Amino acid sequence: MLTVTPLFFSLWYLFAPVTILIDAGHGGTNYGARAVDGTWEKTLTLDWARRLEQALSAYPVRVEMVRRTDEYVSLWRRAERVRELRPACFVSLHFNASPLKNRTGVEIYFPHEELALPADARPRAGSGSDGLLVEGYLSRMRREAVSVGSRNLARRLAWRLDAAGHKVVQVAPAAFDVITTTGTRALLVEGGFIDHETEGPRVLDPAHRERLAVALARQLAILCSEPVEGQLLM
Ligand SMILES: [Zn+2]
Repeated sequence: MLTVTPLFFSLWYLFAPVTILIDAGHGGTNYGARAVDGTWEKTLTLDWARRLEQALSAYPVRVEMVRRTDEYVSLWRRAERVRELRPACFVSLHFNASPLKNRTGVEIYFPHEELALPADARPRAGSGSDGLLVEGYLSRMRREAVSVGSRNLARRLAWRLDAAGHKVVQVAPAAFDVITTTGTRALLVEGGFIDHETEGPRVLDPAHRERLAVALARQLAILCSEPVEGQLLM
């Protein structure tokens, strides 16, 4: 009979490659924004995600995809994938649009620590239950750690993408459900404005998406491999 010692598991967790879970934004009946030539955001995010997966294959990380086809994946299913895989980083890929059609640049969002709190993590008024209070406190600590870890990741990624020539115009906390419900370091990257008269055509060029994927892969491979508190708290 094969016996596996706790030491084996300790070494496995120490040396196993980290997992990066890539989420191609939108999909199926959820089309997202529309580009200057009529292409939907969901098509461009899937292409970008595939290129990122390919670019990450050059690094010692494990890569998983939320979707590989034009399908809608529910928020519940996305959260379930996170629980199954326990990734070091969750990265949701999107492209942007503006009603004014005058904005350009890359934007990076991370989960806002207050908005990331689930409703049931707060002590219920009048319940007087220590259990609920402690549970809420722990959950809040964990979510703060995740938010801080994600914010640091977002800032460092922004510096490095900027240095690689991809102008990052905003790094900010946000309440997007897809990143506030993961329980791990999570980012939502908007790779440019597809409805802008000059940036739109640039994003529609596959060569541009390839450059964006290569730059993102290099930085994610480094940054997501670093241990963080938020990860340990999973
Ligand atoms: Zn989107």
